Amino acid sequence: MHKDNPNIRALKLLHSLCPSYFPLMAAKSFFDKLSPYFNLYLSAELVNEIAGAKDKTKLLTLVLITVLGNFVIAVLGGLLNRIFAHKEIRLYQREAAFNNKKTLTLDYSDLENPEIRQLRRQITESARIDYHGQQLLLMSVGRLINITISAILALFLGVEMFVLMFSSGFSWFIIVLAVALAALVSFNVWYSFKSKDKIGRVSRNVSQTMIDENRIDEAIDCYNMGKDVRLYRQDKLIMNIKNYAFDLHKKAFRTMGSKRFVIGIPLTITEMVLKAIIYVFVCAYSLVGAFGVGSIIKYVGFIETLTGCITSYFSVFADIKYNTPFVKDYLAYFDIPQKMYQGSSRVEKCLDNEYYIEFKNVSFKYPGSDSYALEHVNFKFKIGERLAIVGMNGSGKTTFIKLLCRLYDPTEGEILLNGVNIKKYDYNEYLAVFSVVFQDYKLFSFSIAENVAAGSRPDKGNVIEALEKSGFTQRLSEMPEGISTCLYKDFDCSGVEISGGEAQKIAIARALYKDSPFIILDEPTAALDPIAEYEIYSRFNDIVGDKNAIYISHRLASCRFCDRIAVFDHGRVIQTGSHNELVADKSGKYFELWHAQAQYYNN
Ligand code: ADP
Repeated sequence: MHKDNPNIRALKLLHSLCPSYFPLMAAKSFFDKLSPYFNLYLSAELVNEIAGAKDKTKLLTLVLITVLGNFVIAVLGGLLNRIFAHKEIRLYQREAAFNNKKTLTLDYSDLENPEIRQLRRQITESARIDYHGQQLLLMSVGRLINITISAILALFLGVEMFVLMFSSGFSWFIIVLAVALAALVSFNVWYSFKSKDKIGRVSRNVSQTMIDENRIDEAIDCYNMGKDVRLYRQDKLIMNIKNYAFDLHKKAFRTMGSKRFVIGIPLTITEMVLKAIIYVFVCAYSLVGAFGVGSIIKYVGFIETLTGCITSYFSVFADIKYNTPFVKDYLAYFDIPQKMYQGSSRVEKCLDNEYYIEFKNVSFKYPGSDSYALEHVNFKFKIGERLAIVGMNGSGKTTFIKLLCRLYDPTEGEILLNGVNIKKYDYNEYLAVFSVVFQDYKLFSFSIAENVAAGSRPDKGNVIEALEKSGFTQRLSEMPEGISTCLYKDFDCSGVEISGGEAQKIAIARALYKDSPFIILDEPTAALDPIAEYEIYSRFNDIVGDKNAIYISHRLASCRFCDRIAVFDHGRVIQTGSHNELVADKSGKYFELWHAQAQYYNN
């Protein structure tokens, strides 16, 4: 097989996650399979001895070997099974960690990309139906190992049978048997390949219907949606959609079930015919005295196992073949390149906190979008001054920040930090330069300390200091376990629910704790009234001290204290200057917006 074969690649990947998995699987299979052959062989010997010479010492020896052999096989097999079960868990655990790491380190643009999200869902749902993907591949390899071991063990019995049969003549009989068996086995093989392809196609439909159904379950389960569902009586709507999705799923599942049943009938029939031929054949040889009665058990067992092994071999290959598209999906996800991580330059620590940033003719379209969210943005700023970015909703302010923080790369143009394209910097080092509180910031159902410290081990003193600066001290004193109190109740029933304003303070504390040279507030206060927002922004100005700060708002008054203001409109920077300069330009957008919003502040 070619080295780029997806199944080989997936197996190498799994092997690298737990190198002892496959050798242990082989050892365990050997002991699992050994027992029936061992017993088959010794029972046949016992029956032959009883029906023949009846030598007591030989009989006793055979019984002893059977008992002791079974004991040793059971002990070693049991031990290996335990060790293997342990490795199996370890492999699944490492594989899950590997998957999660991939998702957590995807470029942000890929994380949002609908096609990639669909691919991820497809992989998850396919795995739920008959373990399609890497799990079915693992199971198939396990079966291949089992079959190989069974075939090797069966051959030991078979060699003896062929010697006896050939020595008693009737070689034409053996040829007839071999041809009949080969014909039936070939039919099974051909049929397995054909039918499994069909099943593969149907299962893909089932996984699609499951994706749709699970999305609705997520909505039902999400307690944040509970208010709207109740107030707008959306329960009926949701139930109708759910029932519709469930019907589609049921139909697809039923189709798969009946296809499997119909497909299984010819296979069962050929297996029965195979069995009948084998019995007639072995009994015929026994009747002409080629071997003892006891050997009938042995040789029927051998031929059955051997034909079973051949059929199973091909059936496993058919499984592997029809599972290949699922494995390709799995690998395609891991092959998504991390474009953001290519830079290697170090971000120099500017002791005087003087960072120069320049947007050079930057334009940007969101993935899958036809229109520009930013167009030809040329903008230089020396951070050290307080910068404000203002503009109507949808004018491109957040997009500007997302590009600055390299959540996305520009479609055209470039962004420079201290004269160097930001793509050239080591991604993690570059990200360490920014602390952003987005409008749609998210806190996790972890402890307050973990939320504030985010990626690092919480330092109690610094966590408390950051919370103090963000104005959370009063609420913290009411928390049952201080900074160890868990937020929300998703994972911890004693977790606390907090208000939007309190959550915002924790999010701001998280930004302060990170202690980056840049702090960016991207309208985390949008849910507050304009005056409250202004108060927070001006207070924040004192909190950030000598750090560089960028404030974003669609409310102009919130940012009027800043040294410099950039006005965004339809994805372009249309004005820059101080509040006084901008408000003096009567033909400018700032003047227009300022007067339109003045009513909020004049009351
Ligand atoms: P602002 O922060 O000024 O309110 P944004 O930068 O969020 O504006 O949005 C600018 C434009 O980009 C808007 O037209 C918005 O609809 C679009 N946009 C924002 N986020 C996405 C996204 N993830 N995918 C596609 N379009 C987006």
